[in-house]
Amino acid sequence: MSDWKPIIGLEVHAELLTQSKMFSNCPVVDSVTAAPNTAVDPVSLGLPGTLPVINMQAVEYAMMVGLALGCEIPPINQFARKSYFYPDLPKGYQISQYDRPLCVNGKVEIELSDGSTQVIRVRRAHLEEDTGKLTHIDGESLVDYNRAGVPLLEIVTEPDLFSAEAAEAYARKLRTILQYLGVNTGDMSKGVLRVEANISVMHKDDTGYRTRTEVKNLNSIRSMYRAIEYEVARQIKAWENGEGVRQATMGWDENKQRTVVQRYKESADEYRYFPEPDLPIIEVSREWVEQVRATLPELPDAKRDRFQRELGLSHYDASVITAEQEVAHYYEDALAAGANAKTTANTLIGTLFALCNRDSIEREAISSKVSAREFASLVKLVDGGTINKQTGTAVLTEMWETGATAEGIVKDKGLAQVSDTGVLEESINGAMAANQELVNRYAAGEDKLLGVIMGKVMAELKGRGNPQLVKQLLTDKLNALRG
Ligand code: ADP
Ligand code: MG
Repeated sequence: MSDWKPIIGLEVHAELLTQSKMFSNCPVVDSVTAAPNTAVDPVSLGLPGTLPVINMQAVEYAMMVGLALGCEIPPINQFARKSYFYPDLPKGYQISQYDRPLCVNGKVEIELSDGSTQVIRVRRAHLEEDTGKLTHIDGESLVDYNRAGVPLLEIVTEPDLFSAEAAEAYARKLRTILQYLGVNTGDMSKGVLRVEANISVMHKDDTGYRTRTEVKNLNSIRSMYRAIEYEVARQIKAWENGEGVRQATMGWDENKQRTVVQRYKESADEYRYFPEPDLPIIEVSREWVEQVRATLPELPDAKRDRFQRELGLSHYDASVITAEQEVAHYYEDALAAGANAKTTANTLIGTLFALCNRDSIEREAISSKVSAREFASLVKLVDGGTINKQTGTAVLTEMWETGATAEGIVKDKGLAQVSDTGVLEESINGAMAANQELVNRYAAGEDKLLGVIMGKVMAELKGRGNPQLVKQLLTDKLNALRG
């Protein structure tokens, strides 16, 4: 196995969140919830005599993505017809871009779990129109043209990804960037973001690439990961047993957890690309590029670096908090409500992320369980010493489960931390009297028993004692016994 290494290039299709379609003012609707064929017009149906008009908002969104990926924006870009016949494509051709794409030569930095980073080259990003959607039921095929003509950006990498993990890191990073830019929701289950993986394997003695297959129908990053692992193992086996790999378009069968051949490619597809005669060439002035660049929001890497620099977060903490825009905003909102940066980060990652895992809730939905403002109140109660850290975790869990407020829970349950030395000393005396043997052993030199005795005192206080104060008072008393 170790003689082989995976070679992966990803093609990502992202629908752009414009109001109207790529080439007409037909509205864009949610392709899952809207009734079929309700958002169609003569242009998206490709009726004879209709002419396309370029949606400049889509061009600007696409340019934003290109700039965020460090692409060059060539001064001239042009649409082209890609001809093929399929029932989801009413015109018999898709308006796409061919030799003059909007964005070229970008790069995305990814980080792997071993802490290493790698730059993935983005070959190009071009604009096109989405196709309709086919649904096959009981031997019949139904077509919905709501999606036909929706602006689509295709982002293509060089074959620079060498593991399923790297492909996952790239896909996540790209999705985050699209979300930060506000041009795509990143919801793969709705198909607004779709990934195709080109996969081959390379033997350590190879000097060039081997035949690749292309896997489609990946409707989550998890499926993509599994499909790559499966396909890499399949190809290695096929090369080793002499069978070899044929160039093919494959699908991922979610039920069987395996790739299946959809069609073999004998030669390059014959799309008969030619410049779209019904649309003008777009000239992109440098002023326009700079205007668009100036509208870019703070991107994930920049936010991560700033959190480290300005808030003193660790690289790891800053990375996981900025990995999803919703989470980053949640964190920023909690800080704006007066919570301390470090404690908020620790509690978010340590408690809220754990609750997400426990309940299978997406991190971006955290605010629907506990608002940023309420989260900040809880953090402040802990930081201010009203409740100790352990009680804080219990209160936050209850907030998550019941929607109650931090203050409310602390008050109702009388959880406020005890810092009254009179009360603390009483409990310490009680616990020491009840655990004479432990106390005697400590006095005789067994230092490690301090924690155990401390536990007894805290139990007496039902966990509400101010830990620093208890520890100090208890140590004083115990050490006095040693004379
Ligand atoms: P085209 O679509 O014009 O055929 P390519 O075949 O060069 O373009 O590339 C399409 C995608 O396949 C790109 O993402 C590229 O990185 C990837 N790719 C190309 N060759 C290989 C290979 N041998 N193994 C894995 N991926 C590849
Ligand atoms: Mg392609």
